[in-house]
Amino acid sequence: MTADVQGRLGTGGTIFKGDASPVTVADFAAQAIVAAVLTERLGAIELVGEESPADLVEDAALFAAVGALVRTHGRAGATDDDVVGLIGAGDGDGTTSRFWTLDPIDGTKGFLRGDQYAIALALIDGGEVVLGVLGCPNLPNADGTRGAIFVAHPGGCDAWFGGAAGPVPVRVAHPAALSAARFCESVEAAHSSHDDAAAVADRLGITAPPFRIDSQCKYGAVARGDASIYLRLPTRPGYREQIWDHAAGKLVVERAGGTVTDVDGRALTFGSGRRLEQNRGVVATDGRFHADVLSAVADVLGGT
Ligand code: AMP
Ligand code: MG
Repeated sequence: MTADVQGRLGTGGTIFKGDASPVTVADFAAQAIVAAVLTERLGAIELVGEESPADLVEDAALFAAVGALVRTHGRAGATDDDVVGLIGAGDGDGTTSRFWTLDPIDGTKGFLRGDQYAIALALIDGGEVVLGVLGCPNLPNADGTRGAIFVAHPGGCDAWFGGAAGPVPVRVAHPAALSAARFCESVEAAHSSHDDAAAVADRLGITAPPFRIDSQCKYGAVARGDASIYLRLPTRPGYREQIWDHAAGKLVVERAGGTVTDVDGRALTFGSGRRLEQNRGVVATDGRFHADVLSAVADVLGGT
């Protein structure tokens, strides 16, 4: 459904939410469809989703377009009230002992550019991420195909790639030396400081240019060894990351053998609300070089 929308997105499909982030018909429709599938399969669930129906019902044309998409993609009988109810099911506050968190389209700016984005779903239990799924419809694969789905589960991390017949286990790659590492970061400098990341790379002796890619596809890239470091360095003091931007990706990297912390080396703490209130930024690595990367990050950023 999201790939279908991306292929024919015009400016009419976009509105701007209160925080000025772009959101499209597909963000709302994907949240409704994932909420429908989860509740149909699992019964009543607690869901923390990025989108809110309050942003949708104000715009009649957008509301109609979202309803049409939901009805076309598997929920033919859904009424407008059903659609509002499904999107509104994602209004969890992120403090219950067990909940799902969903970013229906992570990397909306990449989505709008016709580039990379992800659908990210995770299950949190007792403050820990216990299941993570990343759908990356446009991610280029080594065999020339596009599209990957990563599933982090208790036994590891498996991925389905474009043309592959079935899932394959994925593992992080360890560069021979840190200087040979490739790091990824946001395309958007407003989401992660490119200047600070360049300074970190410089300290580590990394000369390869950054792999800039939108969304949690960055975690997928580290998990399968396309890169071995993901730097998300704060652009301003006080910004707290949203839980749905990291929950699934964090487990994907960890279950592939990597390590994920914030820029201060603290574990990402879920269960304190819709944001990672106790963390700043994110550093994900192959694991082996995590301490060295954190040390360079600390040198560049200084203390809190
Ligand atoms: P990315 O595609 O990695 O650049 O990340 C996209 C996500 O960045 C969006 O889902 C937003 O929630 C998030 N975001 C928005 N503003 C900021 C910010 N100032 N710092 C970090 N992340 C942000
Ligand atoms: Mg997001």
